[in-house]
Amino acid sequence: MPTLIADRSMDDGCGSAAKSALAGRTTRALIRRAGVPSTVRNDEVAALLYEIADLLEMSEEDRFRPISYRRAARSVEGLAEDIEDLARQGRLRQIPGVGEAISEKIQTYLKEGKLDYLEELRKRFPPGLADIMRIPGVGPKTARQLYFDLKITNLDELRAAAEQGRLRKLKGFKEKSEENVLKGINLLKAGQGKFLLGIALPLAERVVAHLTANAPLDQASYAGSVRRMKEEVHDIDILVTTTDPEAVTRVFTTMPFVREVVESGRTKSIVRTAPEGMQVDLRVLEPKSWGSGLMYFTGNKDHNIKLRTLAQKRGLKLNEYGLFREEETVAGATEADVYRALDLPYIEPEMREDTGEIEAAVAGKLPALVTEADIRGDLHAHTNLTDGVNTLEEMAAAAQAKGYAYLGLSDHSPSLRVANGLSEDHLRIHVGHIREFNRKSRDFKLLAGTECDILADGTMDYPDSVLKDLDYVIGSVHTRFKMAQKEMTARVIRAMENENVDIIAHPTARKIGQREPIALDLEKVFSAAADTRTVMEVNAYPDRTDLNGPYAKLAKEHGVSLIIDTDSHSVEQLDYMRFGVGTARRGWLEKRDVVNTKSHEEILTFFR
Ligand SMILES: [Zn+2]
Ligand SMILES: [Zn+2]
Repeated sequence: MPTLIADRSMDDGCGSAAKSALAGRTTRALIRRAGVPSTVRNDEVAALLYEIADLLEMSEEDRFRPISYRRAARSVEGLAEDIEDLARQGRLRQIPGVGEAISEKIQTYLKEGKLDYLEELRKRFPPGLADIMRIPGVGPKTARQLYFDLKITNLDELRAAAEQGRLRKLKGFKEKSEENVLKGINLLKAGQGKFLLGIALPLAERVVAHLTANAPLDQASYAGSVRRMKEEVHDIDILVTTTDPEAVTRVFTTMPFVREVVESGRTKSIVRTAPEGMQVDLRVLEPKSWGSGLMYFTGNKDHNIKLRTLAQKRGLKLNEYGLFREEETVAGATEADVYRALDLPYIEPEMREDTGEIEAAVAGKLPALVTEADIRGDLHAHTNLTDGVNTLEEMAAAAQAKGYAYLGLSDHSPSLRVANGLSEDHLRIHVGHIREFNRKSRDFKLLAGTECDILADGTMDYPDSVLKDLDYVIGSVHTRFKMAQKEMTARVIRAMENENVDIIAHPTARKIGQREPIALDLEKVFSAAADTRTVMEVNAYPDRTDLNGPYAKLAKEHGVSLIIDTDSHSVEQLDYMRFGVGTARRGWLEKRDVVNTKSHEEILTFFR
């Protein structure tokens, strides 16, 4: 029997409200694909099934069909196999939730690239309603109501109606809902044209790999904010040196994942990729300008301006072509050469934000940033007991294959019902399995943990009698995101004051493009974290990166220890660690600031 793994991680179990946010789903699908490049069309088919479900729900013809389409969509999204292979082998109906009707539609779509059934459904509603459903919390039912009751057909009309207070007249709407709709529209607009690092970085690497394999290159690198590991980026910059620019341009503009060639020239070309629609710029540099060009295009702008000023003070001129005294080249071939000629040590790309790194470099006080190789384990991971996809054994094997010494399993607590939180009894059985695993495994160990909800009053979702027997406890805010700052801060601090709570996960609970951070007085929270020796998490999940770099830096300045965790809901997501490490480096964290650089014994002692 083939393995058809249904991925239940689309809602990461952390209370996401993006139930019908098609864009959010597609984004997550794209992120996940970063680790699974072979199943390109699965997400396309899943998106199609979700759209049919939404349109059917809007039509209100049948209550059950939308549910079946959504179920099928989720299964397809989580398939471990390529859906085209399944179709070819006549095995589509083995996918959970895919019956005869849906299987036929998938066949047709895969063969013809379109589906008349969907085209017909689309004609029933104005296309702008799809944008409206991308607002967190707005599903097909609300979209239908907006359309039929208020004749709203697109985001601009919705914004106007909310501003004029016309939404509150709708059944089930309040003033508060109008505010939320406006906030949602702003989040959407702010996110337009931006891509998560979780999408952009793998894509940048794919371009570099493709060029390196197929074109006559001497050097190649991505630059820009992707290289600085910024959590969201607009476009990708690729730099190369070559003796044959025309050949490189040809390979670049004909990559299999190019949707559109915007510009094609000897030293600069621009393409857009499919399916992301992301802009990728290629620049051909002279070898003697490689370092200065890499610096120039990596940025950020403020960092570069400050370096230029430093150069001017020395009677030098710095630009993308090199560092010059009059006509004479002083440096330019490597970044280190350029920094050295300015009497500076090499500054890591993640720090180049002009937030004090040049001053620190001048003073000889640059931190030695933590690296992925320093990480010995991951303490935030879910299994299929709650909302994860893989079993305890599969997660353990994947973590061990990554070279880790340990993996902490932190499944959800009972009040998080959407994530199938564990009852006390089930948790005890689970811990028993972990202990049993450890008796058999010598070089690799599991840690028994929990991601326990912090309830509204700051108490924990499990009693202390349960928490105290675990190796470590993560506390998380997954509910009541809209509490006022004073109450929210008190809530989180109360959790930290519980002596069993060791880590606060995704402390601000934000989700990029979907949910704003909760209202916390972070100065107070970090002071309390230092006092109670509670570790703050840098959550590596690409739409979280929480704490972000600046907050991680602030926490460190308060004397707080940090941990970099992936919040994995499947074995592939363990690879998100790199995004967390990048974020930590943006926060200037060193190995000694990050507790999961400790050995298995050290970390057990640390949390005791
Ligand atoms: Zn969580
Ligand atoms: Zn989690």
